[in-house]
Parts: sequence; C-alpha cells; structure tokens
Amino acid sequence: MSQHILTAVAWPYANGPRHIGHVSGFGVPSDVFSRYQRMAGNKVLMVSGTDEHGTPIQVQADKEGLTPRGLADRYNRVIAEDLTALGLSYDLFTRTTTRNHYAVAQEIFLGLYNNGYVFPKTTLGAVSPSTGRTLPDRYIEGTCPICGYDGARGDQCDNCGNQLDPIDLINPKSRINGETPKFIETEHFMLDLPAFAEVLGTYLQGKQGEWRPNVLKFALNLLGDLQPRAISRDLDWGVPIPLDGWRDRSDKRLYVWFDAVIGYLSASIEWARRSGDPEAWRAWWQNPDARGYYFMGKDNIVFHAEIWPALLFGYNGEGARGGSPGSLGRLDVPSEVVSSEFLTMEGKKFSSSRSVVIYVRDFLERYSADALRYYISVAGPENQDTDFTWSEFVNRNNGELVAAWGNLVNRSISMAAKNFGEIPAAVDLTDADRALLARSRTAFGAVGAELARSRFKNAVNEAFDVVRDANRYLAEQEPWKIKDDPARQGSILHVALQVVDDAKTLLTPFLPSSSNKIFEMLGGSGVWSGMPRIDEVDEDGGPSYPIITGEYDGAATWEHRPIQAGTRLAPPTPLFTKLDPKIVDEELARLAGE
Ligand SMILES: [Zn+2]
Repeated sequence: MSQHILTAVAWPYANGPRHIGHVSGFGVPSDVFSRYQRMAGNKVLMVSGTDEHGTPIQVQADKEGLTPRGLADRYNRVIAEDLTALGLSYDLFTRTTTRNHYAVAQEIFLGLYNNGYVFPKTTLGAVSPSTGRTLPDRYIEGTCPICGYDGARGDQCDNCGNQLDPIDLINPKSRINGETPKFIETEHFMLDLPAFAEVLGTYLQGKQGEWRPNVLKFALNLLGDLQPRAISRDLDWGVPIPLDGWRDRSDKRLYVWFDAVIGYLSASIEWARRSGDPEAWRAWWQNPDARGYYFMGKDNIVFHAEIWPALLFGYNGEGARGGSPGSLGRLDVPSEVVSSEFLTMEGKKFSSSRSVVIYVRDFLERYSADALRYYISVAGPENQDTDFTWSEFVNRNNGELVAAWGNLVNRSISMAAKNFGEIPAAVDLTDADRALLARSRTAFGAVGAELARSRFKNAVNEAFDVVRDANRYLAEQEPWKIKDDPARQGSILHVALQVVDDAKTLLTPFLPSSSNKIFEMLGGSGVWSGMPRIDEVDEDGGPSYPIITGEYDGAATWEHRPIQAGTRLAPPTPLFTKLDPKIVDEELARLAGE
C-alpha cells in the first residue's frame, strides 16, 4: 500500500558554508531514507531550506560588510549548490526569506494567539544610555552566566550553545561604543509551553518502542520542566509580528527559531504551488495515513520533539486551553523524530573559527559524493558521537568501495563483456549458484526493514554482506580458470551479474550515482534513480533565488529484477577511485593550517 511520507529535513543556517558534520546529521540520512521510501512505492515529499533570520546572520553580515539579506543570498546559494552536489533529493529546498514563508509563519502565530497559547509579557530589554535607542541582542556582549565564556551575545552563547537574554550576561557591554546598557521594560510574546504538558506527555508516551531511545528519553525529560518561551526578539531582521500596533514596528520580530521550525509547513505549501496544485500539500499534513519523519542533529531535538509538536497542537486547539484549528485546518504532528549524534573531526569538535573543519564543497572537489555518503552511512554518528578520521575514510573507500564492491562489478562485467559480449545465459544451476541467488533476493526484505526504521548502518552492512558473499562465490568458482566449458563459465557470470544487479538496487539509497552507472552498464536505459537539480525561481516577479528540486520517479524499485540473457555489455569504467594513503598526511596538514 502506497503511503504519503513527509521527510522534513533540518534547515541549515545560512551564516556560512556547511561542513561534513552538518550533512552527516541531517543531510545524508534523510536522503537515504527518502530514496528507499520512493523505491518502496511510497509518495515522498522531502522539504527543507536555508534558515536565514536571527542575530548570527546579522553579526556575520556586519563582519562581511553586507546586509543580512545580502549575506543570506550568498550562503543560500552556496548551501543549495553543495547539497545538490551531494545528491540530496529534495522535492523542494527553499529559504525562510520568501513571502510565502512570512505568510505561513504569521498564520501559525495568529492561530496560537487566537487560541490563547501566546501571551504578551513585559521583560527587561537593553537600551543605549547615551542615545536612548534599543540595543538589539547582537550589539550586546558579555560573559556567559552558564559557561563563563566572555564573548557571549545577548541572545546566545556560541561556546555552550545556550539561549540567553541580554540581562543574563555578566558585565554586559555595547559592541557599538563599549558602554554598559541600561535595561528598561520591553514587551514580548511568550509561548505558553506548560499548557501543552499533558498533550505532549500523551503524544511522547505513544512513541515508546518506535523512536530511537535516546531521542525519546531526552524529550520525556524535558516535559518535567516546561517554561513559557519567548517567541519574539528586539531585532529588525526577521518576520514581523502580525498584530495591530506590532506589524509596522521595525524593532520587533518573531524569534528565529519560531519562524524556522514552521519552514517544514511553508516549504510544503510552496512546493504544492510550484507543482501546479496548491492544495497538494494537505495529503502529507492532513491525512491520518500519512507519516512525517524529521531528521536533525541532536542539538535540535528540543525543537522537533517538543516545541514544534506544541506549536501544532496549539494551532489545532488541542492544548489545555482548547480552541479550534486556524484557517489552514488541523495539522499533523511529527510521526517520528530521527536524530543523529555528533560527528567530530580527528578527535576535535568541528569549528569554523578554530579551523577544525572540512566544508562540503572542499570535500567534493577532492573526493566523490558517493564516497562521502558511504562513509557517513557506515561510520557516521547514527547512535553515538563518532569521530571522522582521514585514515578511516581512506581505508573504507579503498577496502569496501573499491576492493569489495567496485571490484565485484568490474570483474563480473568485464569478464562477461570480453568472453560473451552480452549477459550470458544461466544453464544447469548448481546448489552454490542457487544459494547465492537466493541470498541476494532475500536481502531486500532485511535491508528494507532496517531502512524503514532509519537503521542505516545495519542496512548498509547487510547490503555489503551480499557483496562479500558474491566475492567469495567468484573466488570459489574461479570462472577465469574455465577454458573449455563456456556454458558453465557463462552460468557463473550470469549468477554474478544478477547479484551485482540486486546489490546495485540494495545500495541505491546510499550510492545513487554509482548505482545509476551500473544500471547503464547492465543495459538499462532511462533514469534509474533521479538526481536533484537547481532551478532559478522567483515570487511574482520578485528577486530570483535557487531552489533544489527534481524528478525522482525513475525506474528504481525495491525488488529483485531478473537480468536478461543476451543484453549487450560494454567494458565497464571504474566506479570508485582508489585513494593514495598519503592523502591522510596532506589532509591533516591542511587541517593544521600548513
Ligand atoms: Zn556559554
């Protein structure tokens, strides 16, 4: 039965290029999952975009001498290009600075407000004593009250990652002129999170045995201490507050986390409009049979397992204060929150400022997308924090992709091409032949079950077990030694090519580019697994921007397909590149800034 599957992928923040730690958390796992679900016959909608509001964008724009919009334009494009190069099959990758997104974010705010889940609160805000003007968060610096870092900003500490209020800072100073800000009363909007304690508790308890245990445990722990949370800030870059007396104020905006998390919905609505059926998004958001899967790094669990469901419950009128759904109608909460742990780099935390970093673009200039996708799938931070090392990358590339998989494909196809020029027929199969054929056919069930549960490591390892068994089979059968029995030699190669074809299908979610090549080598025509592209679009003649989209309904289906004897074969081209072990030292030297 075909199901509607929403793949909601965390929104990369557009204050700089993304590194491989980022894409190991949200990017590759969500794409492996989506490609599998499409192959299994489900209707996937995979959406995301760049998150472009908030103080860090303004701070970086100041540094680079750009407007916030100019900075967001620059990195929106860089990130969209990098994610496309990695082969991530978004149906729509957009951005939060679209008019559509503003309208949807404001609609969710109004729905919550009308149902009584948003209330104003007077807090203390910073002003400059010399000018009397409001000092936005980004212009205040001080010592973090939590970790003691002395470069914390008014809204956040970049060292420990905690959200702050300017008044929390120890020894706050204006970054404009160094004076100590004065704190006066200022009004903000708060989300009444405690009003969702009960409905969130019931929701999360119902996920026992379904979600990854670390995610569920973390979310359940948060329930014990739900506090009202500010959803507006003193800043001029963001989505205006859609209420009379607020909408035209230049110094108040919705808090960046609030508008960004609504992006899953606004991107779905934008995708529907671009697809020509503006109501099409409802099949993923207002459908009891649809499933919504959210992919992110673990630092974002709170927003996806707690706050986003609360916003949706509130919009639907399903919290302690009741209410009724807003004008979009009742919206579905996440079915599953799939969070990754952290990736470190040669034992250190990724850090752009401390140069412990390898950006996606730099990586893909030197190595293939499939090599990175494979490493993240087999050795990424799925269940625990994991260290990326260049030596492991080289070992896995050379030992697993080149020596095991690439070699199986290459020697099977080249031997068949040389001796037969086509896929030879299988005659008089032996027990060993039948055992291997059965082995790869039954792998579809096992590997598919792991993929459906987002157990990517298990899935890729089980697929590679088929590859290893096929190599063992060839080593035992030694078709290259058979000189005077072409029928037997042809049968062995037929079996090997059938298993290559099956393994190519099993590996398609992880290695789409190389599986597409194998599809062609074995005589396939047309598209096997679609790849993403960038389109330039605009909103009603406004400034153009890049989106990632694509057609992904290729021939790839999650099943064994019998190969046809007599199909012409050409000598194969190598699938993967063997890496010289000395690149380890080169990369480590680069990392050390040499
Ligand atoms: Zn801190």
